[in-house]
Amino acid sequence: MTDALHEPLAQRTTEILRARSRELTARLDQLRAEGLALDLTRGKPAADQLALSNALDGILHGDYRLKDGTDARNYGGLLGIPEARAFGASILDTTPDRVIAGGNSSLSLMHLVVDTALRIGLWGAGSAWQTDVEAAGTRIKFLCPVPGYDRHFTICESLDIEMIPVPMTEHGPDMDRVESLVSADPFIKGIWCVPKYSNPTGCIYSDTVTQRLARLPTRAGKHFLVLWDNAYAVHDFESPTPRLTSLAPLLAAAGTEDHAVQFTSTSKITFAGAGVAFLAGSPLIVKSLEKHLSAITIGPDKVNQLRHVRFLEGRLTAHMQQHAALIRPKFQAVLERLEYAFTGLGVATWTKPAGGYFISFNTLPGIAKRVVARARAVGVTLTPAGATFPYGKDPDDRNIRIAPTFPRLEDVEAATDVFTLCVELESIEQILARRAAS
Ligand code: PLP
Repeated sequence: MTDALHEPLAQRTTEILRARSRELTARLDQLRAEGLALDLTRGKPAADQLALSNALDGILHGDYRLKDGTDARNYGGLLGIPEARAFGASILDTTPDRVIAGGNSSLSLMHLVVDTALRIGLWGAGSAWQTDVEAAGTRIKFLCPVPGYDRHFTICESLDIEMIPVPMTEHGPDMDRVESLVSADPFIKGIWCVPKYSNPTGCIYSDTVTQRLARLPTRAGKHFLVLWDNAYAVHDFESPTPRLTSLAPLLAAAGTEDHAVQFTSTSKITFAGAGVAFLAGSPLIVKSLEKHLSAITIGPDKVNQLRHVRFLEGRLTAHMQQHAALIRPKFQAVLERLEYAFTGLGVATWTKPAGGYFISFNTLPGIAKRVVARARAVGVTLTPAGATFPYGKDPDDRNIRIAPTFPRLEDVEAATDVFTLCVELESIEQILARRAAS
């Protein structure tokens, strides 16, 4: 691990910095020679987490009947089986009639919602966003809190939606900025939100931010949508678990129920890629989506939905505590190393999430790409710098997303050690280069 003197790097003499730079370079050369192949990029569950859900296999024991007698093996049930809709409603804190239980991916549901709003309209005839922009000769725009989730950005790019970054604070998006932007531009039609253990900062939106987001559609142009991606709704490390204010009652109070859609999935509860995804919206939104869905499919995989309900009903909290027991030590390993390496050095900041899948790390401005490249040269793959920003462009070149869940604990430790060495070395080189130039 890095030898941390607790004096800010910028205050050390050039001689001391050069000596430290030589030391770090030698250490990294040694590590390169070890031929490491470590990866901190993937926000995926590790094999031992997946194994927690192996009982899904065979859980039905030949009993495919739903509570209402329907045979789950046959066609039908476009909005999902009642049991699964009720399960999704319990996570998203709404009623089952407002929930669609879909296939294996909430991202597909997000794409479905945005695509429907854009091309067909979620609010009845003539409400497609496309109609508005074609008449005005402009583009649809979305607000993207940054750093944020790259696949949200991919959905926007794939549908030619322009992305406007807005800063994240530790309590959620900067709402002054959000409100002023949507008030000024009626073609801003949506905002991406990951309200609990946000990807990648890990923050939980405060009551005030949630309340302001619930009211946001009243300030925006017509047909605005809050996309509430609650992917980490139950992914807590600690007990008692931190609370996220429930969105549904705030929407009802603000009269904006037709302008928000919530999403979640079991991707990081059971099997990533073979779970069940959910969305929740007002009766009008569910009806519009049902119509569009009926052109896409006869119905979702009801057998998988039934397996999930039988497996998770009444034991979700206990199951998530088992995940937490496996994930927590990996987060701790990263956070301890960051603290040891950087406390007092004045060259880095990072988040300390109480749940979710990510740590967001900020270097000095201008070196994130260099850190990622240097780590790669030593055999440690990090998420590309910039990935947490629309169009892959971090204007300050400083944010790096760390995803500790997938590798084994020893690998997380080794990869973080390399990472801290690379950050310190790049920071020193930048300070030295600036001194030489001044
Ligand atoms: N939403 C967020 C914020 C995520 O971080 C992820 C996965 O990393 C997803 C959605 C993916 O969800 P799903 O597997 O249900 O498509």
